[in-house]
Parts: sequence; C-alpha cells; structure tokens
Amino acid sequence: MVKKRRKKSLKTKLIEACDEEVKRIVRERDMGRCQKCGEPVSKNNAHTSHVKTKKRFPYLRFDLNNVKLLCYYCHIQWWHKEISDSWDWFQREFPYRADYLYTRIKEEEEIGKMNDILNNRKSEIEWLETTLENLKKINGEALIARNKSTPLLDIIFPE
Ligand SMILES: [Zn+2]
Repeated sequence: MVKKRRKKSLKTKLIEACDEEVKRIVRERDMGRCQKCGEPVSKNNAHTSHVKTKKRFPYLRFDLNNVKLLCYYCHIQWWHKEISDSWDWFQREFPYRADYLYTRIKEEEEIGKMNDILNNRKSEIEWLETTLENLKKINGEALIARNKSTPLLDIIFPE
C-alpha cells in the first residue's frame, strides 16, 4: 500500500519542535543517564519517557517535571510493564515532582468542570426569557415561598 504523504500542519510542526526541545533539555538535565538504572544512554537508547502519558494528559506533554530520561530497557520493560512499582519509584525518587503533577492534574480537572458548567449554561437570551417568566409568576409563589421559608432567589433563578 502506498502511503499518502500529507503536508504537516503548523500544529504538528510546533508539537514536534517542542518535543525535540524537551528531549534536548531532559537529556542534559538528567546528565545523559537512565534515571532508573544509572547507565549512560545515547541515541536510540536514550528515551525521554513521560510520567503521565501524553495521550491522557496532553497538557503535561512538554512539562519538564513530567519527563525523565530512561534507557530502552527501563522504559519499555520496566516503566510500561510494572506500572504501580514504577509510579512508587517515581514518587520516592522525585517527591516534589510527583506532588506537582498531582496538583496540576487536580487543577486541570477543576478547569474541565468549569468548562462543562459554561458549556451547559443556557444562552443569555434563554436565561433572560426564563428569568422573565419566573418573575411574572413570582407573586403567588413568593407567598408560598414565604410560607415554606424557601429562599426567594431559588424561585427567581432556578437551576
Ligand atoms: Zn535503565
């Protein structure tokens, strides 16, 4: 099968360039050694391995706290196979970075929740229409609300 060659988009080019920079910095920071076994690594044996996966945590892809230098063996045969053991190791070896990643993930979850709320919100016109409808009905219901000691705001601004 002949592969169709597509021109890379600007986004793809930028991602690749950032990946390359991350590689360069991490190799230097980790002094060219596998962070697990300590062996010097180079070329194909030098793997810049993500702590939290690029796929599930795209916002941590270029975060230097999320990347470490490993040799091929420690990356493929250990890091990706002994998941809980390798995460324990990371927390033990790099407690600050583990805490940081945990905090970042929590923050992103909060941002995600906020986005959901915003996306689910009615349009302003819809909101005004509903509010007007509710305000028109308020006389009778305000009495009921008073009797039930329900806060009036709940009637004006229903969920
Ligand atoms: Zn190694």
